[in-house]
Amino acid sequence: MAEFESKERDVKDENTFRSVLVSKGIDFLLSPQGKVPLSSLDQKTTCLFFSANWCRPCKIFTPQLVQLYNNLRGTGREIEIIFISFDRDENGFIEHFKCMPWLAAPFDVDLRRQLSNLYRVNHIPFFISLCSDGMSAGEDAIPMVDDYGIEAFPFTGERRAQLKIIDDIKRRGGKLEDLLASRDRDYVVARVGTKVPISDLTGKTIGLYFGGLWCPPCRAFTLQLTEAYNELKITVNETFQVIFISMDRDEEEFYRNFSGMPWLAIPYRDRTRHELSRIFTIKGIPALVILGPDGKILTTNGRATISSYGSKAFPFTESRLTELEVSLHKEGEGLPRQVHDLKHNHVLKLETAKAYICDSCQRGGRFWVFSCNECNFDLHPTCVEDAQGDLDIDL
Ligand SMILES: [Zn+2]
Ligand SMILES: [Zn+2]
Repeated sequence: MAEFESKERDVKDENTFRSVLVSKGIDFLLSPQGKVPLSSLDQKTTCLFFSANWCRPCKIFTPQLVQLYNNLRGTGREIEIIFISFDRDENGFIEHFKCMPWLAAPFDVDLRRQLSNLYRVNHIPFFISLCSDGMSAGEDAIPMVDDYGIEAFPFTGERRAQLKIIDDIKRRGGKLEDLLASRDRDYVVARVGTKVPISDLTGKTIGLYFGGLWCPPCRAFTLQLTEAYNELKITVNETFQVIFISMDRDEEEFYRNFSGMPWLAIPYRDRTRHELSRIFTIKGIPALVILGPDGKILTTNGRATISSYGSKAFPFTESRLTELEVSLHKEGEGLPRQVHDLKHNHVLKLETAKAYICDSCQRGGRFWVFSCNECNFDLHPTCVEDAQGDLDIDL
């Protein structure tokens, strides 16, 4: 196995790439201005980009890579990319290469075949760094580019491991600035367009709410969270704050969504949104991550906590949740299994529900409910007007 690994590593250097070209009698590369010698790769981090004009994902990814390449070059990083064409013919290649600012290997079906075997290219677009120690063979660096953008440079396994450690420190380290700010932004925004400094949030309990308007469960959860938020605004005032991390499809949708929310948000155009969902490995929305006053994670499942307990769950600590559970059990033990209510013809049975609307007072309720099995009728235990005098606790 060790021997196999060292062979893999040998393949991934620039000399191997050059020798493949030379063995095919190719001693130059193409730039947008014409031929350049292989020595133009000297002292540079060389990457290969396998792509084709006819491939839709390639068309989406190529402009991203152009931007990344220009940014890297603009900040003085010595990177060179070489396009290896999967186009159907030379004309397709020429057309495709027009949108790229880097170099290309001459169009050659045989060369492409040889290189894609060597680097185990099994799909396109495919992007690798020729100094990618720590990446396994056949591993594409595009997910890393998607996740980390310019930070992914030089696209090696080592760099990826470093970035994961940085993510981990941010997740566990408890510094809100590290988590919420970006290079040129030290604030979050409020609905009215004002900027709130992130330093103002230090010492508060913070909910990071990941949601999108296009997602119906998010719309429902926004209502639940708003209710809890407004209640906490009265009871604990400024010690609880929510930051919206938009998963909306575009900026217009973000504004429509955010305009209905009473809390703060990361600006839509900011990459931090993407970073936060990576750092907290958000797999589905709605999601609510709750951070304690020390900035450390209290729960990543704040959604369930809010749905179950609403504002009562504050300050969202484990001991508070245990306390709530115990008191709920007690409350249930004190209630009869069924009642006859004056307002309803059928027997109402004691059940638990995540959320319901009471048909007497029209307000929301959670957990214990007296519910009709025959029609859609629910009552708060406190809204029951007992018809048979059997609601006494000592039953
Ligand atoms: Zn009621
Ligand atoms: Zn009924």
